[in-house]
Amino acid sequence: MENIIVLATGNKNKLEEIRNLLKDTPVAIRSLADFGPMPEAIEDGETFDDNAYKKAIHYSKMLGLPCLADDSGLVVEALDGRPGVYSARYAGEKASDWDNCEKLLKEMEGVTDRKASFVCVLSLATPKGPALTWEGKCNGEIITERKGESGFGYDPIFFSPEAGKTFAELSMEEKASLSHRGKALEEFVSEIDKIQIWLKQRMDEIKPPKPDHTEFLDNDWSQERWSKG
Ligand code: IMP
Repeated sequence: MENIIVLATGNKNKLEEIRNLLKDTPVAIRSLADFGPMPEAIEDGETFDDNAYKKAIHYSKMLGLPCLADDSGLVVEALDGRPGVYSARYAGEKASDWDNCEKLLKEMEGVTDRKASFVCVLSLATPKGPALTWEGKCNGEIITERKGESGFGYDPIFFSPEAGKTFAELSMEEKASLSHRGKALEEFVSEIDKIQIWLKQRMDEIKPPKPDHTEFLDNDWSQERWSKG
């Protein structure tokens, strides 16, 4: 049977990027939107790794299916690693991408060390708990004003020296070839055969036993019940 993996993210941009990179894999990809409304995972971990696992296991237990979650963010050296795990809500709980970029640009005013990295941790969890993890990182610089219209989050202010442009000036395919998420997913895809075996073993453990009735054939009591029926 085909393995199913649910992409455990409510972020439409991430979903689109991940779906696009997994489109040729032999697993059936689903998203949370394919299921009914569910309580959201609580992302109160101190690392990308903690939060990726929290999201993956939360939805996996709830759906009884393997879930792949991405936790990612921007790490700025001169700000001691901020916004880090708080990237999505840097300017407040309901902050927009625009607000977050604005706050970061303000904090970086007059700062000469503009080095930053995007980090992505992927966690693939199964309902009983075990999970696999992949990590991707890419380096760049925070520029002083937005450039480009594509992408999301901090893309307009993240300049990639390899591309010679900001991430928001790249197509989705160009960004994926350089990005933290692209790198983590590239590794994931290169291991897909092993992942499929791992998933099948974990999911077989939680399947109810097949009702094949073979135990009745060499059990007198059962034979009796059958013959009475
Ligand atoms: P998460 O959904 O809790 O993992 O938060 C991720 C946040 O990190 C996003 O809301 C963005 O602010 C930022 N981020 C992660 N990946 C990217 C990216 O590829 N481009 C721009 N910003 C990103």
